[in-house]
Amino acid sequence: KLHNQVMELKGNIRVFCRVRPPLPSERGEAEVFVFPDYDKEKRKVVLVADSRAHTSYMTGEAPGAKKWPFEFDQVFDWRATQEEMFDEVAALVQSAVDGYNVSIFAYGQTGSGKTYTMQGDETALTNFSASRLVDNANMGIVGRTMTHIFATCATQAAHGWTYQVNFEMYEIYNENIRDLMAAPGQPVKDISALLDADGNVHVTNLTVVPVEDERHAMQLLKQATTRRSMKKTQRNDVSSRSHCITTLRLHGSHAASGSVRTGAVYLIDLAGSERLKSSGSGNDPVMLKEAQNINKSLAALGNVISAIASKKTHVPFRDTKLTYVLQNTLGKDSKTLMICTLSPLEEHREESLNTLRFAKKVN
Ligand code: ADP
Ligand code: MG
Repeated sequence: KLHNQVMELKGNIRVFCRVRPPLPSERGEAEVFVFPDYDKEKRKVVLVADSRAHTSYMTGEAPGAKKWPFEFDQVFDWRATQEEMFDEVAALVQSAVDGYNVSIFAYGQTGSGKTYTMQGDETALTNFSASRLVDNANMGIVGRTMTHIFATCATQAAHGWTYQVNFEMYEIYNENIRDLMAAPGQPVKDISALLDADGNVHVTNLTVVPVEDERHAMQLLKQATTRRSMKKTQRNDVSSRSHCITTLRLHGSHAASGSVRTGAVYLIDLAGSERLKSSGSGNDPVMLKEAQNINKSLAALGNVISAIASKKTHVPFRDTKLTYVLQNTLGKDSKTLMICTLSPLEEHREESLNTLRFAKKVN
């Protein structure tokens, strides 16, 4: 319950930053960020080095480098493991079992580590049948959340609580919602979001699957992800051009007292935040439309979160599909975590700075 006190003091929005390590092919390239130490208590700032200061992997800062600090609730550098990351997320997930709506977003340019953070690497989806999900060091937040939820539900069962967990997964591409859990062989159907008389949003015709256990949930995730990547054949990596929303809905009931708790965890792998280059692909009308929709929805998300954080009376949920479908999970007594992912490389400096500016806006 310490967590809930912390959230009350700080508000219900937290912003983390994670800088991925250079990939093997990127070793030796100039880096932008400097991490002065790795004291867990002090991991709150990321320092942006001067462009002439070529810092390198694991050697730290160059002498005389000019640095700009950006503050976060938590900063994770290239040393941070998936497990350490989830340690800072677990309390939030826990509150969904207690009956809250929780949403966790990954925001950043393509290649900055959003999918690694949320889902894990490729082995997260191929290699989970034999052991516990968390035994895979590369397992991301989604799998760890499933493990945590089912473990907590089992503990709660000892106190007379029965939980039903439902799984949904869909993506938003060019302002259309696509169900990723539609039956195999069926074409992925377009669906839409509706507001009911009570002001709650329902995504209509969405496939809802009751989940048996963490491994079953992982199978569903794998199935939906395969469906998502099938579209890659049409054009290169459509998955980075769409927002992907994985939802675990929890319904707890206590037979003896008649009490009920409903909560949900929304795990959102956002579309890549990078700007379309004005040269080359900028002339492709399909790419231009995608880019406009992504820019618009990410900007709207930023506006919504900062309006909630500053307690504005008008929150512009209706501006895009993304903010529209998430309006029940943002604000009120919902809890929101934005994880901003950054590439360490000098060549991505401008995109990284855009991500840091977005973080500053919502923080
Ligand atoms: P995005 O989803 O933002 O496009 P990815 O998650 O696909 O980016 O990451 C790009 C590449 O970097 C992938 O090969 C991924 O496995 C790797 N990667 C990302 N973050 C980390 C990390 N923290 N540790 C190790 N590898 C990472
Ligand atoms: Mg990705």
